[in-house]
Amino acid sequence: MSTLRFQVVSEAFKKKALAVTAPGACTSEYYGRYVFGKDQMSKYLSKETLKVIQDVIEGGRQLDREIANHVAAGMKMWAMEMGATHYTHWFQPLTEGTAEKHDSFIEYAGAPGEGIIEEFSGKLLAQQEPDASSFPSGGIRSTFEARGYSAWDPSSPAFIVDDTLCIPTVFVSYTGEALDYKTPLLKALNAVDKAATEVCHYFDPSVKKVYSYLGWEQEYFLVDEGLYAARPDLLLTGRTLLGHESAKNQQLEDHYFGAIPARVQAFMKELEFEAYKYGIPCKTRHNEVAPNQFELAPIFGETNLANDQNLLIMSIMQRVARKHGFRVLLHEKPFAGVNGSGKHNNWSLGTDTGVGLLTPGKTPEDNLQFVTFLVNILMAVYKHNGLLKASIMTAQNAHRLGANEAPPAIISAFLGTQISAVLDKLEASTSEEAIMLDSKKRMRLGVARIPEVLVDNTDRNRTSPFAFTGNRFEFRAVGSSANCSSAMIALNSAVAAQLTEFKATVDAKIASGETKEKAIFEVIKSYIRESKPIRFDGNGYSDEWKSEAAKRGLDCETSAPLIFDAYTSKSSIDMFSSLGVFTEKELEARNEVKWETYTKKIQIEARVLGDLALNHIIPVATRYQSLLLDNVYKVTKIYDKEKAAKLSAQDSAIIEKLADLIDKIEVNVQKMVEARKVANRISSERDKAIAYHDTVLPYFDVIRYNADKLEMIVDDEMWTLPKYRELLFIR
Ligand code: ADP
Ligand code: MG
Repeated sequence: MSTLRFQVVSEAFKKKALAVTAPGACTSEYYGRYVFGKDQMSKYLSKETLKVIQDVIEGGRQLDREIANHVAAGMKMWAMEMGATHYTHWFQPLTEGTAEKHDSFIEYAGAPGEGIIEEFSGKLLAQQEPDASSFPSGGIRSTFEARGYSAWDPSSPAFIVDDTLCIPTVFVSYTGEALDYKTPLLKALNAVDKAATEVCHYFDPSVKKVYSYLGWEQEYFLVDEGLYAARPDLLLTGRTLLGHESAKNQQLEDHYFGAIPARVQAFMKELEFEAYKYGIPCKTRHNEVAPNQFELAPIFGETNLANDQNLLIMSIMQRVARKHGFRVLLHEKPFAGVNGSGKHNNWSLGTDTGVGLLTPGKTPEDNLQFVTFLVNILMAVYKHNGLLKASIMTAQNAHRLGANEAPPAIISAFLGTQISAVLDKLEASTSEEAIMLDSKKRMRLGVARIPEVLVDNTDRNRTSPFAFTGNRFEFRAVGSSANCSSAMIALNSAVAAQLTEFKATVDAKIASGETKEKAIFEVIKSYIRESKPIRFDGNGYSDEWKSEAAKRGLDCETSAPLIFDAYTSKSSIDMFSSLGVFTEKELEARNEVKWETYTKKIQIEARVLGDLALNHIIPVATRYQSLLLDNVYKVTKIYDKEKAAKLSAQDSAIIEKLADLIDKIEVNVQKMVEARKVANRISSERDKAIAYHDTVLPYFDVIRYNADKLEMIVDDEMWTLPKYRELLFIR
């Protein structure tokens, strides 16, 4: 009898929803309590310091030591009043999630041993040297100079977790290369601000800054903690490597937007209370398509801050879930046969004057600006579609893309019929029709009125990886466990480079005597024509699209290790280096990290799969087989030959079936181990990752197929691993 499985199942059934109480009478009362935000700053910093630091935050000036000291003093006072005893530089290495090393505030008051004081100087706030040697760097930093340093990013406020003051920082090597996600993200955001502001000046010279906005939607699964612990694959890889589909999964579509189960509801409530304390504006919570799958989305915000908040909430989720007896699965594809999890990145640009550059305007003047940005974005996505795919690709997300539930492994853009019609009309217009000047000499869109309410935003094509949804693009291909920065660096950089090129082309036309209106129109028109291959409103899941996309010259590569090559293509290197976001060396180093991470993920999964097959599946199957053999033997002892053969026919057939399946599993596990050995001997990270993809990964499906068949035959009471129906339906 499989005692552990039945024990955890019965315990899971007994668990009740925890009572959760709000931290205050209304949300605004405790919102941002753990964050050193504007309110806290104005309480703990002098007026002068506050003014300077706000300027630093807006990017208007550099942080100097004196100001850092003042800020550190105020921050320390606040943190200590909040009960903090430690501080940490909180950074985003190229592994998953965030990293931190805690130091306490204590220092000797005088000579060693003479009592202690709490200290936190501007120096400690501004810069630290965590031992960086064990973070992936793709060989940028050889171990003898294993020092990288972390430096405060004042544009993201410090916050307190438990007893620790966390300071969001960038993480760079001593030679200046980025070792993290935040450094290039800040550079990309700066680049898009600069390029977009200049383009805005064609329409409105008063614009001083353009913000990039991000609204992520975090999907996740919840699994009862006991069941989770009884599945070595979930524990070690975050996904199930085996498991026959449950008879019922998501066919009835009864989970999506259904009533939220009580235990989950309690978890969500507490998660939101926690999020509010950190100033994360959670707005939406609901069930997702798959059983035990859920989603959480805040109101969008400035991209760098929104991304920090996403990383923070992923760790808060884990903590709160454990309190409620759950584990959160952030993996992109924890279960075969039901939907995986993504993290749609809703993205837009907006000016400091409050205009959404992707919001169709109320007036024809604004609409011209809208069309200009829209068309430039299409061009950027067209030119860099391979790179954008690389930016969201990981070993985990590869399971989700192209699996008839998530976007295909081809990047295209969905605009909807109305916006498409506007572009078509513009393409067929003359300059005189298209752009007109009003009485105040302001440019306006002459043709093609853009309706304020876009009808097809409601039926939004869910198969599109990059869809226009009324006032933003939704980059849907991003994976649920990802650091959104990866996608946001690629997208904002590609758009920044494109806008820069647009501006240069228009300016050159103006310099050669063209009117501004005509120059803008002509360039837009040529872009509409050129970027057409990226526009696709049809069914992205269909096979026709795959062959059509190949004809259009879009990147159709499906192998993750080869997809990463897009980072070091000439167009990517030129684009990133022209903006100062990445050097060629950084791109190469980061790809090394990607290949290495890919290999390690598959390697770990392969080991776990081998272990499950040999130590869980086969022993159980053999035991069941011997039970049947025993029965057959006894039957022959009791009955005559003919009767015995008749009575044991069924058992004999199963015995043979079991033997066959067991044999197939054993043989393929052995072959997989051999393939791994061969792959491990390869020294190039790229070639090794390719070998893992091409020669190790294919065994996963074969082994699984046979193991899942066994699951359907073997006595349920003997089966040790919690089954899909238990993982997906107990809550
Ligand atoms: P969906 O129907 O796609 O699930 P939601 O309303 O749940 O839509 O989520 C949409 C997300 O997009 C939210 O995080 C929202 O704040 C964000 N969002 C809305 N407008 C914009 C915008 N202009 N720029 C960026 N994000 C936006
Ligand atoms: Mg969405």
